[in-house]
Amino acid sequence: MSTTTPATEDATVAGEAVVDLSDVNFGYTATPVVEDISLRIDQGEYVAVVGPNGSGKSTLMKLMLGLLRPDTGEARLFDEPSHEFDDGARIGYVAQHASASKEMPITVREVVRMGRFPHVGFGRLSAEDEAIVDRALETVGMTGFKNRRVTKLSGGQRQRAFIARALAGEADLLVLDEPTVGVDAESVDAFYDLLESLNQEGITVLLIEHDLSAVTEHAERVVCLNREIYFDGPTEEFVQSDALSRAFGTAATFLGGSR
Ligand code: ADP
Repeated sequence: MSTTTPATEDATVAGEAVVDLSDVNFGYTATPVVEDISLRIDQGEYVAVVGPNGSGKSTLMKLMLGLLRPDTGEARLFDEPSHEFDDGARIGYVAQHASASKEMPITVREVVRMGRFPHVGFGRLSAEDEAIVDRALETVGMTGFKNRRVTKLSGGQRQRAFIARALAGEADLLVLDEPTVGVDAESVDAFYDLLESLNQEGITVLLIEHDLSAVTEHAERVVCLNREIYFDGPTEEFVQSDALSRAFGTAATFLGGSR
C-alpha cells in the first residue's frame, strides 16, 4: 500500500465520494417513488442514470442534490448531508433545453458571468473573474457568440453556454437532466464530446438521459432505475445484461446499437 498525501480541504480528489445514498426511500405520497437506493458516485466518474418515463430519475437527482429529503435512509453530497450542503458553486446544473428560460434578454457572456457570482458575494467581478469567464467561453467554443443574446442561440449553443456558466463557477460536479432534448443531431455529438473532455479533466458527470445510444457511447457507468435500481455497473456489462428489458419492458432495445 502506498502512502497518499492527505487531501487539502475542498480538493477534488479522484476516488472521493461526491454523492452517497444509503438505503434511501422516498415518495411524494404514501406510494414509494424510489425504493432501497444505495448508490455512491466518486469524484471523476461519468455516470448515466437511465429508466423509463416516471421511473424516478428526476426524483433521485433531487434527493442527491438535497432538493428533497429521503423518508428513510441517508443522502450525502460532498460528505455532508445533502439537504445541508450549501456550496452551490461546486455543482453545475444543466436542465433540458426546453425548460431554459426563453425570456432572458441577456447575452451569453452575462450568463457565464453569473457563474462567478457565488465567488464574489455582492462584490464586483475582478479582472481575474472576467478572465475565468473568458476561458470558460473558450473551453466550450462559444467565444464567437459571447455578445449574442441567449434567446438567439440554437439549442446546442445554449447548452454550451450553461456548461460555460458551470465552468466559470469552477463546478466539480456537472448534473445534466436530459440535456440534448430538442438539440440537433450534429450538435448532440459535439455536446457529448465536450462532456467527455471535461470529464477527462476531472469533472464528475452525472447524466440523466433517455437516449440510450448516447449513454452507451459516452458514460462509463450506468444506473438503470425503475423505482429500484435494476443495474449499476460498467456500461459494457449493462449492454450485455437483461436489465434494460426488465426495467423498460420487453420492447426496449439499444437504438443505434448497430453503429
Ligand atoms: P422520471 O424523471 O424518471 O420521469 P420522476 O422522478 O419525475 O420520474 O417521477 C417519478 C414518479 O413521481 C412519477 O410517478 C411522477 O408522477 C411522480 N412525481 C414526480 N414529481 C412529483 C411531485 N412533485 N408530486 C407528486 N408526484 C410526483
